[in-house]
Amino acid sequence: MAEFAAHLNQSATNANPTIFEIIAEESMASALRPAVGYALNVLATSNPDKWGWVWRVGDEIYLCLDYLVQNHYLKNYGGSISENFYGLKRVNRVMIGNKEGGLSRFQRHLSLIMLVTVPYAKLKLDKLFEKAREEHLSGNQASYHARKRSYFSQLKRIFFYVYPFFHFTWETIFLCYHLMYIFKFSEVHSPLLHVIGISLQRLTRQDILAQDMRNSYNNLLKGNTLLEKMSSIPSSFGHVLVSTLANGLPVIVFFLKFIEWWYSSDNKKAVQSVTQLPIPVPPPQPKPADHGVQLPPHPVQCPLCKNVRTNPTALASSGYVFCYPCIYKYLNQHGCCPITHLPSASKQLVRLYVDETN
Ligand SMILES: [Zn+2]
Repeated sequence: MAEFAAHLNQSATNANPTIFEIIAEESMASALRPAVGYALNVLATSNPDKWGWVWRVGDEIYLCLDYLVQNHYLKNYGGSISENFYGLKRVNRVMIGNKEGGLSRFQRHLSLIMLVTVPYAKLKLDKLFEKAREEHLSGNQASYHARKRSYFSQLKRIFFYVYPFFHFTWETIFLCYHLMYIFKFSEVHSPLLHVIGISLQRLTRQDILAQDMRNSYNNLLKGNTLLEKMSSIPSSFGHVLVSTLANGLPVIVFFLKFIEWWYSSDNKKAVQSVTQLPIPVPPPQPKPADHGVQLPPHPVQCPLCKNVRTNPTALASSGYVFCYPCIYKYLNQHGCCPITHLPSASKQLVRLYVDETN
């Protein structure tokens, strides 16, 4: 548990973490989601037919994983996974002077909601806004006005104009809390923690010893007689499994992030030296999926509607070209390339300005 030892030589009275520890903890928490998303994307790309759905429900898979891991950490270590990693714990601000400074059951449940559900809801709202913005900017003004009448579109329109103010207010409140924390006007660095009466403190030596005691495998088999010990094996096994998974997760995540970084820096080098190299051969054509949409017989036909393409648009993940309305609608419904089933998003659409008459 070397990560807990770094702060041991600091004075015991200085229990409040510095803003740097908090920022480090927050950036680790926000790095977990992209890392898991990256792993799911690798899995989905390896076999789009079999694993494509994993990428489409990636946010929900992360939500479940996050719930399990954060619940385990809150229950056993009194903080989130990233807080525990940086040697921090959550304490009840109302009972701060008390020996029993731990979280109440109610606060633990609220903490779990703030840690897991709030970021998920914010992510979904961000995605919804991005989609509304794309629709607004897609230039399809005629259909935009036709749809204007429906109740749902009206709501979407209101959301499109209101959400930026909400987002701005949300971020500003967080920034103000950080500033107040730096200048010691506030004991809490986050409005979410303030609302539920919690602040962050460094783990004490006693906390770390208690955690190590709890984690030692001898303590897991409770009971005095052999029979009692035997009967506690299934629950102990579950505990060991969850704690191994929870402890191993950061390692896996950092390993994946490292691979991502490694390949991206490799790419950079390759780009720098590209002038000295001969022009590379074009990549092979992506393989159509077994149950994917069939390619049309003539290259000017759109694979989806089979008519001559209007507004030709390439999908960057596979390189195939479709009508813009056809592929946009398909991506919103299925989230993958119709031909190869590679995971794709509407961000990957590239408008092609070719002279159709030639
Ligand atoms: Zn079409």
